[in-house]
Amino acid sequence: MPPIKTSTDSLTGLFPAEIAERIEAPLMRGRQLFQWLHKKRVFDIDAMTDMSKTDRARIGERHFLTALTPALRQESRKTGAQKALFELADGETIESVLLAQGSRITLCLSSQAGCALGCTFCATGQAGFRRDLSPAEITEQALRLLEGVEYSADSTPNIVYMGMGEPFHNYDAVMKSIHLLMHIEGLHIGARKITVSTAGDVAGILHFAEEPWQVRLSVSLHAADDDLRSRLVPLNRRYPLRELHDALKHYQEKRNRQITIEWVLMDDVNDSPAQAKALVTYLKGLDAAVNLIPWNAVPSLPYLPSPIHKRERFMEILGKAGIKATLRKERGDDIEAACGQLRNIRQD
Ligand code: SF4
Repeated sequence: MPPIKTSTDSLTGLFPAEIAERIEAPLMRGRQLFQWLHKKRVFDIDAMTDMSKTDRARIGERHFLTALTPALRQESRKTGAQKALFELADGETIESVLLAQGSRITLCLSSQAGCALGCTFCATGQAGFRRDLSPAEITEQALRLLEGVEYSADSTPNIVYMGMGEPFHNYDAVMKSIHLLMHIEGLHIGARKITVSTAGDVAGILHFAEEPWQVRLSVSLHAADDDLRSRLVPLNRRYPLRELHDALKHYQEKRNRQITIEWVLMDDVNDSPAQAKALVTYLKGLDAAVNLIPWNAVPSLPYLPSPIHKRERFMEILGKAGIKATLRKERGDDIEAACGQLRNIRQD
């Protein structure tokens, strides 16, 4: 009888040498399988025709190649953004997003099923935490989103860990997935094209500062005073703004990389000139660019999107202070694929 298969055992979460060891075969076979899964994004063992039928049957019988079952794919008519819903082996579901702007592709991956942080403007946070994802469950989101998608060497996709979950609360699995996505025999994504986005987990930032690579860091700040930030991002009660600032400073001293500050603009909540000035003050001593994101309506939540004139005024204040800021366009809000809108839709 074949061994019992488990989702965390899926081969999409393993390096070539680990695959070879798992399937008890030479390294060459591990590399072949890795390339089928990661480079060619082929998940059907019977289609891997450079292996003998006997080998394919043996591997298929004993091992899960994949961890995700695609359950739904929606495409925004407005922007072409695609949202994918995946089912996990234990019945949990997660979502990920592909955004395309011309030849530029960005994949937004989830690191957890649900999220424990409960940010009050976020659909994922309201649905609660289910569990951490395995390296296979994280990595495979990118492979599945890119199934059948062609891109040239100079337009390899960008990856952002900005879907469901706090990446630093599932640190080891996220780091392994980054190494897998960067692997030269797979997608071969450059470190600078990968961004890990945290809600401000200071322990995670300090840990991340020790990683010897150029992977980017972004922080979902949303407020520059502790009262408001604690209301929007409850993690702020554990890691207040001063402590977060010190951690970001330390990160920059170690890694010498610009950080991105994410700021979701909500009407009469955090879009005032006073808030913009508080942000300017907060960023003193940091090399940071600011990404302003219009809040995308979630019907059950008591917020409204910031109107365009307030967004532009906010941006102008940052610009006058010499801070590089971009105002992100709504991308995929009609299919609830925008920031803060991801959730386990089976729970609706
Ligand atoms: S915004 Fe991010 S960290 Fe906050 S609840 Fe949502 S998924 Fe979690």
